[in-house]
Amino acid sequence: MAENLNLFTSTQNVIKEALTKLGYSEEMYELLKEPLRMMTVRIPVKMDDGSVKIFTGYRAQHNDAPGPTKGGVRFHPEVSEEEVKALSMWMTLKAGIVDLPYGGGKGGVVCDPRQLSMREIENVSRGYVRAISQIVGPTKDIPAPDVYTNSQIMAWMMDEYSRIREFDSPGFITGKPLALGGSHGREKATAQGVTICIHEAAKKRGIDIKGARVIVQGFGNAGSFLSKFMHDAGALVVGISDAYGGIYDPAGLDIDYLLDRRDSFGTITTLFDNTITNQELLEKECDILVPAAISNQITADNANSIQASIVVEAANGPTTLEATKILTERGILLVPDVLASSGGVTVSYFEWVQNNQGYYWTEEEVNKKLHENLIKAFDNIYEVSQTRGVNMRLAAYMVGVRRAAEASKFRGWV
Ligand code: NAD
Repeated sequence: MAENLNLFTSTQNVIKEALTKLGYSEEMYELLKEPLRMMTVRIPVKMDDGSVKIFTGYRAQHNDAPGPTKGGVRFHPEVSEEEVKALSMWMTLKAGIVDLPYGGGKGGVVCDPRQLSMREIENVSRGYVRAISQIVGPTKDIPAPDVYTNSQIMAWMMDEYSRIREFDSPGFITGKPLALGGSHGREKATAQGVTICIHEAAKKRGIDIKGARVIVQGFGNAGSFLSKFMHDAGALVVGISDAYGGIYDPAGLDIDYLLDRRDSFGTITTLFDNTITNQELLEKECDILVPAAISNQITADNANSIQASIVVEAANGPTTLEATKILTERGILLVPDVLASSGGVTVSYFEWVQNNQGYYWTEEEVNKKLHENLIKAFDNIYEVSQTRGVNMRLAAYMVGVRRAAEASKFRGWV
């Protein structure tokens, strides 16, 4: 039978398994198996050459029983309704894992910002907010950055929403620049969270981070900062990649040079001649492998060739369920996406709290709170995985889904 590469249905499968293990009814699965709300919008955008192009966008709100929904907006040519739905479900799980009073949301616009001018990107961003303005807001659904969106885009979106509502609404969106109510530490939060998980996983496997060989797939927001943190902690980052290929050097790469030369889309390998493919990179020798780019990278086809003893998923959905099984059977410790990449939403929550109270924290305060939340979440999931005899992914789903399920129950929905 062909392997299931569909993120939406494989997420549903694990949610079902988690709810069954936790003893919830079939009705609870019926409620949580897809978003409560899914909006599709068409966005007319004035292009630089005077023409008008219509872009398609989505906003999914998985479950708002625990509180407002929360999740990023992705600008990518391959954004689809199913992907946005699956991503919104993962946001519910992430919020549950790090214990935030949110349900999951997610959005996206089908476009390729690499082909658009800054003005066109601004028009897409503002048009998207106008199109979804009725269902979002600081106490309803709070967007944030994701693939190919950044703090400038968040700033335009916040400005558009504030103009529509006729009052300043910094709490409408997170991942903003500091000057507009962004939080210290937000830009690096996802990578910080992944780093904390790597340290905790290394302790469990008796690996010393100093001198450990690390491969990072993807050199964007998550992958580049993570490479820097690993490098600064004394690890040897032996491989990195972007959409165009990978570079590998067993002696360790010059991360500061690569960071300095990468472009704002996380492209760097085009400057090199002797690159390898992303698939080759994943199978290279290392101790810790971090997929930090796109989904379905470790599958039944290559799971047996992975040489790392720890895989930490910074990207959303990089490992299929079949591959999860293979890696677990091979004794590889897999730290799942819903836990490893939850640093971003955690500091997004801190940003929203600061916006709501109008009082701002130092970077040290933010990092300290992030550390506490993530270590607690890691320990909790590791413990569930050991005591219930399940892999880390199922354990994370069990921890993550509980808050939405309990909130739905107390509200009398199920
Ligand atoms: P980004 O847009 O900043 O960078 C993406 C990187 O992946 C770039 O280096 C790009 O070249 C590379 N890439 C794109 N297509 C690729 C392909 N086909 N093969 C290999 N590499 C490819 O994105 P990001 O914010 O770093 O996000 C990366 C992953 O982390 C995504 O899966 C995202 O959902 C996840 N994530 C990000 C955050 C965050 O706060 N940034 C939070 C949680 C999860």
